[in-house]
Amino acid sequence: MAVLDQVTSQEAIELENKYGAHNYHPLPVVLSRGEGVHVWDVEGKQYYDFLSAYSAVNQGHCHPKIVAAMTAQAQTLTLTSRAFYNDMLGKYEKFASELFNFDKLLPMNTGAEAVETALKLCRKWAYEVKGIDENEAEIVVCENNFHGRTTTIISFSNDPVARKNFGPYTNGFIKIEYNNLDALEQTLQNNANVAGFLVEPIQGEAGVYVPSEGYLSKAKAICEKYNVLFIADEVQTGIARTGKMLAVDHENVKPDILILGKALSGGAYPVSAVLANDPIMNVIKPGNHGSTFGGNPIAAAVAIAALNVVKDEDLANNAEELGQLFRSELSKFIEASPIVSAVRGKGLLNAILINDTEDSDTAWNICLKLRDHGLLAKPTHGNIIRFAPPLVMTKEQLLDCISIIIKTLKEFE
Ligand SMILES: *Cc1c(COP(=O)(O)O)cnc(C)c1O
Repeated sequence: MAVLDQVTSQEAIELENKYGAHNYHPLPVVLSRGEGVHVWDVEGKQYYDFLSAYSAVNQGHCHPKIVAAMTAQAQTLTLTSRAFYNDMLGKYEKFASELFNFDKLLPMNTGAEAVETALKLCRKWAYEVKGIDENEAEIVVCENNFHGRTTTIISFSNDPVARKNFGPYTNGFIKIEYNNLDALEQTLQNNANVAGFLVEPIQGEAGVYVPSEGYLSKAKAICEKYNVLFIADEVQTGIARTGKMLAVDHENVKPDILILGKALSGGAYPVSAVLANDPIMNVIKPGNHGSTFGGNPIAAAVAIAALNVVKDEDLANNAEELGQLFRSELSKFIEASPIVSAVRGKGLLNAILINDTEDSDTAWNICLKLRDHGLLAKPTHGNIIRFAPPLVMTKEQLLDCISIIIKTLKEFE
């Protein structure tokens, strides 16, 4: 078989199993096309995408305006490295900085790289502005966090599968309970070396864990009191996913450092960014940090287009309205159903809790059945199923999806 010959689903799965590292456990479905809220498998079966590549495809698959910007730029100039200037990066930096109301942006590619960038920026600020003794800075993080997969980031994860046998781990992190303001205040009070507090406004990978109302604004106030940087990881919650452009906007919180990724490109290309104001960002000098691909002209063109789509199509309000509808319809269903114990979320970042033990395979089996009924979702942490469709969904499509989900859940009662 020639390398680019058409394959069946079974063949594609076998190829990945034989030649690819087994670092994921995908749902058995092989996709070959996407458009808007839909994807199609190799055999031509159509599905609703209810994962959106972990919220990277908020703007829908292959959005024509994003694809047009990407292909035009790909035919013009793809990469210069930052050894030279390019004519797209500054335009993008201005556009995104103004949109999110920060002085400056530092461009990277993946979410994990942007988190790493934020941690480095925070530490350098701690030594050069806050005045912490060299190598003494601590960054407070939350239990059950997910910030990516690099050696430093997994050092402060408490997921044993992500950590085990990848040590030695990076020092300088203090883990506290999520959604616990007393724990934050006490940690900052007792430790003058804390430089930053890194937090997800909603813990996505942990199972769409939404903190109490007021948590983010009060945490920000505590950080201000102790001159600690509030670092918001909005890689998954940002770009309209939760019903506002940023999840921190629900509480009118302005982070000191903002981390974006995933839907910053609409899923077309790896684009991530760290935003901050000058007193923080200006600690970074030439040679301190960088990336060959970070800030390349395709990324810049794609990100401008992806952000414009979010604004032009009012995706934040659509996510807000459809999210309300989704949770209210699912809530009605679970009142009378023993299979689901709760539905939770914000905007179109939602999850249901399957009424079974964490090590049961009920959620996985439900996802297989959802697939058979034409809807793709994935369990997270055993008995939780995340539902995060593209934000370009219509009300009619969402109602169709809700009926698929309810029909499927009833088969497991
Ligand atoms: C996905 C994610 C990351 C990591 O992004 P990658 O592009 O996979 O490196 C970081 N933080 C959060 C909150 C995420 O959801």
